Amino acid sequence: MKICDLFKQKTVCSFEIFPPKPTTPIQTVYDTLEALKDLSPDYISVTYGAGGSQSKRTVEIASLIKNKYGVEPLAHLTALYQTEEGVLEFAGELKQNGIENVLALRGDRAPDMEPSGVFRYASELAAFLKKNTDLNIVGAGYPEGHFECESLEKDTYYLARKIEAGVTHINTQLFFDNSDFYSFIERIRKAGITVPVQAGIMPIVKKQQIDRIISLSGAKVPAPLARILAKYSDNPDALYSAGIAYATAQIVDLLSQGVDGIHLYIMNRPDVARKLKENISTLF
Ligand code: FAD
Repeated sequence: MKICDLFKQKTVCSFEIFPPKPTTPIQTVYDTLEALKDLSPDYISVTYGAGGSQSKRTVEIASLIKNKYGVEPLAHLTALYQTEEGVLEFAGELKQNGIENVLALRGDRAPDMEPSGVFRYASELAAFLKKNTDLNIVGAGYPEGHFECESLEKDTYYLARKIEAGVTHINTQLFFDNSDFYSFIERIRKAGITVPVQAGIMPIVKKQQIDRIISLSGAKVPAPLARILAKYSDNPDALYSAGIAYATAQIVDLLSQGVDGIHLYIMNRPDVARKLKENISTLF
């Protein structure tokens, strides 16, 4: 099923997982998927290793999600280091495995690799996929603006070009302050972007997560969350409960405002997905 059709029927709830490291057997993801399947997500997205290091694993896991667990997958693909042949090969593998959805990303620059220069932006990858495949194409959006962009207006302008290139819905970067998401929606709707937008939510449940996630995503930490982190970061059980409660409150607010969908960054932790789903399942 093409994910864009889901939004015509319901408020969508999905999970994001990442492939285990190359040195870890792929089977370690089976338990995660088994547990996630029981939570009935509308789809599960699978990340693509920076620079393409794990592209085979992305396809393999997306195929398992579809063909073993009966859930719709969304395979991520990054553009910077790709050739046209590489993209066509990836798309062919998706097709062979019955996978119909791809998240077209630019990707981040790897310090020790030279970009191929074929696809400079996600919009160029989306346009190529649109022309050469029948995949449903999803794109990324940034409620607080992408870290490289000079202004929110420019970021919105380029997002509109990405939609024109064939993107049918947007998954956002994680954010901790819903007002950033509402401003983003207002901005992009004014710019004529009408596709559904899923809000990216990640609960902070572990001390080790805090600095890494915040530096990777560039998300700002609003005062209420900063107070939680300051008070509970050395009490693992309390931090876990408070992190789930904070994310739950974000989701309740988003749903009550009529968001198109929620995309949960669950860090391959079914326990986190289960807790959140328990808290919000009656709200969909
Ligand atoms: P783009 O949409 O190409 O935008 C990148 C920057 O270029 C922005 O600043 C934009 O404003 C600007 N820009 C766009 N078009 C133009 C233009 N024509 N001229 C000038 N400037 C332009 N990374 C991974 O490596 N693997 C993953 O699996 C992965 N999954 C992700 C999932 C989600 C939901 C999100 C939000 C991000 C994910 N990322 C992933 C991170 C992503 O690759 C980085 O944030 C990357 O820096 C930008 O990717 P993009 O597709 O948003 O880029």
